[in-house]
Amino acid sequence: MLEIFIQQTQAMRRHVEMLDALFKSATEGIIVVDSWGAIQLVNPKAQELFGYEEGELIDKKIETLIPQRYANKHVSHRMNYAQAPKARSMGGNFDLWAKKKDNSEFPVEVSLSPFSTSEGDYVVSFIIDITSRKKQAEALLEAHHQIQHLNADLEERVRMRTRELAQALEELEQSKQEVMRALEKERQLNDMKTKFVTIASHEFRTPLATILSSASLIGRYTHTEEDEKRQKHVQRIKSTVNNLTEILNDFLSLGKLEEGQIRNVPVLFNIADFCTELVEELRPVCKENQAVKYTHKGDQEVCIDRHLFKNILINLLSNATKYSGEGKDIFLNTQLKDKTLFIEIIDQGIGIPEKDLPYVFDRFFRAHNSGTIQGTGLGLNIVKKYIQLMEGTVELLSEVNVGTTIRIQLPNCC
Ligand code: ADP
Repeated sequence: MLEIFIQQTQAMRRHVEMLDALFKSATEGIIVVDSWGAIQLVNPKAQELFGYEEGELIDKKIETLIPQRYANKHVSHRMNYAQAPKARSMGGNFDLWAKKKDNSEFPVEVSLSPFSTSEGDYVVSFIIDITSRKKQAEALLEAHHQIQHLNADLEERVRMRTRELAQALEELEQSKQEVMRALEKERQLNDMKTKFVTIASHEFRTPLATILSSASLIGRYTHTEEDEKRQKHVQRIKSTVNNLTEILNDFLSLGKLEEGQIRNVPVLFNIADFCTELVEELRPVCKENQAVKYTHKGDQEVCIDRHLFKNILINLLSNATKYSGEGKDIFLNTQLKDKTLFIEIIDQGIGIPEKDLPYVFDRFFRAHNSGTIQGTGLGLNIVKKYIQLMEGTVELLSEVNVGTTIRIQLPNCC
């Protein structure tokens, strides 16, 4: 019996010694409080953590070890815990702070375990100083922020570079298009030069031959009574030279248009007077018994580019006479209405075949029925460009052997 008692006592002592060693050498701070929150036991690690001497904390409230700003709340937390104690870690998502004897603070992780003895209820807290862990976490967070920052920076740079690249590409595309345009212009110019040589050698041959023959005939008419014949040939030379001038003028206008030298400069003038004068000027161009009949409706003061307008009318009226037979009158009607000048040129000539109509404004295009009638196929193209410069519109209606009507609308800048 005694032996058993001794054995039990020895086992108990060993047990206590082991617990004591565990308590003393633990690397966590261990503090035991009673159900009133009074400190009952403090292990050396806890003393070291909080900076107290041995025995100094005994019977002090546990709130001694908590910063003042949390202490009050802690009392009520502790009381609630005492109602239903269970093992748990403290703090949840919050940072827990502990207070040293010298009032300095340090972050801690605490886990609580309740236990009871014959003398009452207790709570043991295991406390770890997490200063360095927190520092690491903060450093990690800082590094994370820096990485995020760097990432954002990098993304922005990539975005910027992409933008710059897109812009450079666009500029490249633009300059490519400019080069293409320049090349196309160059090609057109070359084309025009070739056409000019062809047209000049072709179209100039007949008039020059006419001039030559008329001139040599004039030289032969030496008698006074032959003056009528002489005059006829002089007239023929004049009209042929006119034709040649017209062709050269067309080329000149086209060249100027191509180079962007021609501008729309509206001026104020009287349209009725202007057209009457022009019709008079063109009388010699008309064929036998052919006349241009002019009418005007509405106000007479217009504000358009006089020079461009004159060229348009000369071109269209010349065509009208050129492509109409003798005795076929030509009608020129103008009307000023609602800030728009309407112009109509009607002839009763050979007309244009339906299949050719879509191309009449193309450069160098000549309708299939133009036959031996002289021309370069440039006039209508120039007219259209002039009208575009004046921000107007043009339409052409035509029927073979019935006639051609051209309608133009020009904005009146007054
Ligand atoms: P062209 O110098 O040949 O007269 P245009 O550019 O003035 O050149 O006209 C292009 C073509 O349209 C002419 O070749 C002709 O076939 C046709 N055309 C133009 N105006 C008339 C018209 N009033 N009547 C018949 N055909 C016309």
